[in-house]
Amino acid sequence: MPQTSPPELILLKYGELALKGANRYKFEKLLFDRVRAVLEPISRFYIQGEQSTVIVGLTRGLTARSDPDEQRMLIGRAYAALLKVFGIARVVRCRQCDKDIEAIYACIGEYAVPELQAGRYATFRCECRRSDKRYPLGSPEIAALCGEYICNRLPDIRVDLRRPELTVHIEVRADYAYVHTGGERGAGGLPAGSNGRGLALLSGGFDSPVAAYMMARRGMLLHAVYFESPPFTGPQAMEKVRKLGEILSEYTEPVVLHTISLTDIQQAIRVNCAEDCFTLILRRCMVKLAVRLARELGSHCLITGESLGQVASQTAQALIVTEAAADGALPILRPLVGMDKTEIIEHARHIGTFDTSILPYQDCCTVFIPRHPVTKPQLAAILEEEIKIPDLDILLDEAYKAGKIAE
Ligand code: ATP
Ligand code: MG
Repeated sequence: MPQTSPPELILLKYGELALKGANRYKFEKLLFDRVRAVLEPISRFYIQGEQSTVIVGLTRGLTARSDPDEQRMLIGRAYAALLKVFGIARVVRCRQCDKDIEAIYACIGEYAVPELQAGRYATFRCECRRSDKRYPLGSPEIAALCGEYICNRLPDIRVDLRRPELTVHIEVRADYAYVHTGGERGAGGLPAGSNGRGLALLSGGFDSPVAAYMMARRGMLLHAVYFESPPFTGPQAMEKVRKLGEILSEYTEPVVLHTISLTDIQQAIRVNCAEDCFTLILRRCMVKLAVRLARELGSHCLITGESLGQVASQTAQALIVTEAAADGALPILRPLVGMDKTEIIEHARHIGTFDTSILPYQDCCTVFIPRHPVTKPQLAAILEEEIKIPDLDILLDEAYKAGKIAE
């Protein structure tokens, strides 16, 4: 079926990437790779970079052959997927048209006017950006002309330059003009793969997936490790963490999930150590195992969901004790350290991990939980307790070697 109306496209506006200097091209390449990877399973799209914007559209062959409904559906799916690509500040559905003013009017008539009508907006304004400086009309002139055109078509609507209910954007670029209504905020951050690799300690709770997401958003590629404690923790807890890994993988390259069983270590802690230190010693064992795994994987850091003061094992003094277990080998990044639980939950809802994290399955930290955990531990005192576990190094080694990649 031939294309009659102007094709619908998606514009991706750079975020922080636009501020990059000499090595910006490296970030752009990663961004393009990621955009291509998320679009590939949906349909055939072309991707074109132009002045801090990526233009995405269905290939000409496809627009010539498929019907408008199908095209709208494919663009809709692409749009949803692109909202999860890091490095993009805004994602905008738009129409492309020729650059002469009559073609721009026609495009506005077909695309923006119905939206203004459907939304029953009382006020609007037009905003124009013109990167083609040789264009015969200036930006304010184009905006004024387009505003006038809309007012003629919709006599009940008013221009409000200061606080319009809807802004109609006209971008006059090198080859075409683009008409849109502003789009939506993108995922922000920096492109996947632009900032090293991290090993996320992923439990089934709310915090750790959000923490992993935060670092992925800065361009870090992730592996994840989940410490289980069978038979105290069951397959459902494992399944929950696997699902969380899958959700994170929608934003970055696939997150490989490693699992290590702490059952024997937990039993040894319980038998040998003072009860109020259980959680901290367990946490230190997790860090030691995670450091070893991270080094084997070539990761640059550990990532945890700790937040200052959230629980006894996350006080300032407790963090010293946990941190010491890494022995300076790798930094432990705690992107949530200064966040309130309510903010963390908001993020969890936004990124899509909330509904999974809320499932009630037992975590290994909730097994043998001390009744009165220490809140201001001294490292020396904790080490004194830890040393009471006979052959802890051997237990750690065995646990590590029995570790697996989750299927
Ligand atoms: P979360 O909501 O992420 O489970 P939490 O508030 O329950 O965190 P803790 O249980 O004290 O906090 O754990 C602190 C951090 O230690 C977690 O955010 C996570 O990074 C890591 N962690 C805790 N338990 C596990 C586990 N079973 N497997 C992997 N990492 C874990
Ligand atoms: Mg937890």
